[in-house]
Amino acid sequence: MLRRLPDEASPVLGPPAYYLALADFLDRHGSRRHARCYLPDAALQLFDTGALTPCPVGWTAEIGNLKTGDAGTVMAEVGRHKMYDLLTREPPRVPVCRNCFSQADIVTLFIAGAVSIEEITRMPMYGTAEARGRLLELRERLSAAKTSAAAPSFGSTLALV
Ligand code: SF4
Repeated sequence: MLRRLPDEASPVLGPPAYYLALADFLDRHGSRRHARCYLPDAALQLFDTGALTPCPVGWTAEIGNLKTGDAGTVMAEVGRHKMYDLLTREPPRVPVCRNCFSQADIVTLFIAGAVSIEEITRMPMYGTAEARGRLLELRERLSAAKTSAAAPSFGSTLALV
């Protein structure tokens, strides 16, 4: 059904690659994630307790606490804490990632090149000029990091999702 959806209901759906990737995840891969996740490179999660986590989807690990810790010290961990390396391995290494596929994977598919900028910005959530600019910046920075021997730069936090 997921594989047919893009043909049958494209006017109200997101990019077809998302539904095909979800179908692959569910049947071909037996609900095991094989693809690298780019979401920790794109967003953060802040809990009401002040806990800051590198994954915007579920609970992974606290890299600092903005209620109890120094904000500058906590934010300095963004992109540098050891959890970033674990969460962005290919294939994923940590248990929480092995069975994960979320609606935010649309950003991972965009960065990986499976979804175009035209497709993702048709979705209202990503349709503003600011979101478009940040998506393009993010993809360019991560693509450069992939082809470079140097470590990726995390000079700014891109809260897209
Ligand atoms: S795979 Fe899922 S749990 Fe792991 S970092 Fe990505 S969104 Fe978070």
